[in-house]
Amino acid sequence: MKIGFIGLGIMGKPMAKNLIKAGHELVVYDISQAPVDELREAGAKPAASCKAVAEECGVVITMLPNSPHVKEAVLAKGGVLDGAKPGTVLIDMSSIAPGASQEIARACAQKGVKMIDAPVSGGEPKAIDGSLSIMAGGDRDVFLGVRDCILLKMGASAVYCGDVGAGNTTKLANQVIVACNIAAAAEALTLAKKAGVDPALVFDAIKGGLAGSTVLNAKAPMMIGGNFKPGFKVDLHIKDLGNALETGHDVGAPLPLTAAVMEMLQTLRADGRGQDDHSSLANYYAKVSGAKIGG
Ligand code: NAD
Repeated sequence: MKIGFIGLGIMGKPMAKNLIKAGHELVVYDISQAPVDELREAGAKPAASCKAVAEECGVVITMLPNSPHVKEAVLAKGGVLDGAKPGTVLIDMSSIAPGASQEIARACAQKGVKMIDAPVSGGEPKAIDGSLSIMAGGDRDVFLGVRDCILLKMGASAVYCGDVGAGNTTKLANQVIVACNIAAAAEALTLAKKAGVDPALVFDAIKGGLAGSTVLNAKAPMMIGGNFKPGFKVDLHIKDLGNALETGHDVGAPLPLTAAVMEMLQTLRADGRGQDDHSSLANYYAKVSGAKIGG
């Protein structure tokens, strides 16, 4: 199948490569030239614009940073909707605000384009090995039509969550749980350090009990080792929690824990740590307690 792929960053580049490996013909576009060249070498055909991608492909995937980037790529002049024929399927895999997904889907529907939102969880390693967790919203039949031949070539699971926007609502729930877990781990390991117990021993002792989690296993060793190389950046998590808080206000769901962690992340950004991994929440606690988990 001929598939358009727009947005070849940390996530989009390996996802596009997995579609090529699965035997699909790829037409790609990014505003940055380097990843386009890399995809050309992997067998993809570069296009000159989002519009040009859509003119050639019946399915177009977008993997972009946030709502404004997706609106620009899809709705602006020279965007996907300028080139798409009725019946085209747009799969937006970016993590954006659910309200923005719904707005873009409405504009798509006016042109006969069917959109699903299908954000992912798992990060770069799982994008590379094709084992992402995918959460989708939109028309169920459209989702089923692309699940096995496209989504499951990039992910280990693809779960239908409801109407358009439901994929991104699910992703926001994921991001709230991850952020609060990392902050709790940083808080607890700082407590241990200040109280004179080695955080590495605390991690070892508790990881198999109720406090153990995928987040703790991934992030505690980074905090203990003082390694904050991303991974998932503080700036991206600020974007997701901003979308979560906005959505929470819209639907009447107070998010006090999310708001507290958001301010910690904002403190890190103000300290010049926006490009750190989100496990850098340990550095927020180091700042307020005077004790480094890994020091
Ligand atoms: P990235 O910044 O590495 O890549 C985004 C790409 O989009 C860049 O190559 C950029 O040049 C391109 N781009 C921006 N605007 C464009 C436009 N108008 N037209 C064409 N290309 C454009 O971001 P990423 O880490 O790949 O993340 C993409 C999405 O996936 C984000 O919503 C992010 O929150 C989500 N996500 C990221 C991770 C992760 O670990 N990095 C994990 C899960 C989900």
